[in-house]
Amino acid sequence: MGGKVTLVGAGPGDPGLLTQKGRKAIEAAEVVVYDRLVSPAILALIPQGAKAIDVGKEAAHHKVPQEQINQILLDEALKGHNVVRLKGGDPFVFGRGGEELELLVEHGVPFEEIPGITSAIAAPAYAGIPVTHRDYCSSVHIITGHQRAGKPLTIDFEALVRTKGTLVFLMGVTAMPAIVEGLLSAGMDGDTPAAMVESGTTPAQRRCDATLRTLPQRAAEMGIHSPAIIIVGKVCALSEKFCWFDQLPLKGQRVLVTRPKDRAGTLSEKLRTLGADVWEYPCIETRAIRPCPSMTVALEHLGDYQWLVFTSPAGVAAFRKELQRMGKDGRYLASVKLAAIGAGTAQALRDMGLMADYIPEVYDAAHLGAGLPADGKVLILRAEIGSPALTEAFKERTIAYDDIPVYKTVYENPRSEELRTALEAGEVPFVTFTSASTVKGLVSSVGADADFSRFTALCIGEQTAAEAKRHGMAVKIARAATIDAVVELARETAAKQ
Ligand code: SAH
Repeated sequence: MGGKVTLVGAGPGDPGLLTQKGRKAIEAAEVVVYDRLVSPAILALIPQGAKAIDVGKEAAHHKVPQEQINQILLDEALKGHNVVRLKGGDPFVFGRGGEELELLVEHGVPFEEIPGITSAIAAPAYAGIPVTHRDYCSSVHIITGHQRAGKPLTIDFEALVRTKGTLVFLMGVTAMPAIVEGLLSAGMDGDTPAAMVESGTTPAQRRCDATLRTLPQRAAEMGIHSPAIIIVGKVCALSEKFCWFDQLPLKGQRVLVTRPKDRAGTLSEKLRTLGADVWEYPCIETRAIRPCPSMTVALEHLGDYQWLVFTSPAGVAAFRKELQRMGKDGRYLASVKLAAIGAGTAQALRDMGLMADYIPEVYDAAHLGAGLPADGKVLILRAEIGSPALTEAFKERTIAYDDIPVYKTVYENPRSEELRTALEAGEVPFVTFTSASTVKGLVSSVGADADFSRFTALCIGEQTAAEAKRHGMAVKIARAATIDAVVELARETAAKQ
């Protein structure tokens, strides 16, 4: 089959602004050629086996010249690959998307273009500036402020001023004083509201409010740098009232998410929605034990058990695989009752089409052990080193059980000096821990002798907090052992600071 190229707009920075179609294209890619302004969370969607080529450009020195990028796209497509060309914002808005298609057309290589949300509209939106508003303007203009070295700007300022519309300049940080000068000379009122938005839609977003006349000085005071856009027009006056993003409870706060990679998604997303600067650093990985003869034997004798107990989604995942391997489905479980330690585990069962018959009110091993309404034998499928609280409760109640390890937790992190330095320097105010093993994982990543006193450990429950305290961390404990409660804890803790 022949290859093809899909130009995909990655959006302005917030990974949530990638389109659904764009996401699907990335997930199906064999080769991804990407730019500097694409967020790490979007790059994380690139499939494991796919080739990722970084052609990121710096403003002054082009890392990979445009002709070479065009050639890479052509070569990879001619090899028969499904190529995704991933670009910041929208590929056709000052993204040289058109240039990249020329060579493909010449060689008859099929292509598609998936538009992205452009920073020209999204950065103002996140800064509370609607680019049009019936009371203030009837047009919006997107202009490049890129200035070739040593050359004057080639912008028709008179024409722009005449439109009375909102003006949005991209690539204009360096040329900003010249742009302002150009507009003033063309007769624009110096009191016209103006703004700059740096790193729009990301946790690092900063907004500079000014008038046309005061913009150069205000921007210099704030040290506004690229990537930033300049907006000129009456609509800028609305930002004070509409700047919703800057007011999010975790805006700009760095939060470390230590969950295993495959489970980090929802927590990270919820924190990002509150404006947090999420740093995903998976400190542990769970691996199903395969083959797992003791689970096989137990499941072959499922009739011996009254209850099947799960204490984590990873346990459910290992069980699901084994059931599949045995060629069985949900009907095989008709005679046994199912227990889940909490909401996340119950959801993992629901994803298999199974409903938990019992979930303790408090989501932990002790409550599960004390509350399970069992008068027959219990089969526990859980981690290699599970909490003793569960089995102790069963022993006390003289409930018979088999406790079978079906997955193990692996701490295979390379030592991270970057993480250690950031933690010790107080650059990460919050670290989330969703299990005691994630605490152990973090400690193994940065070294037990590190200073753990500079951040607040947001812990999902008592056991996790106990492990965190052992390393001298300041801990806060969520009201319930759920992801939502951890997110709520982050919000409350940030509000108190
Ligand atoms: N195709 C892109 C624009 C590429 S040109 C788009 O549609 O957004 C690069 C310029 O875009 C930068 O110099 C800056 O002016 C602007 N830009 C890109 N991302 C930005 C962001 N997150 N915040 C502010 N400006 C941004």
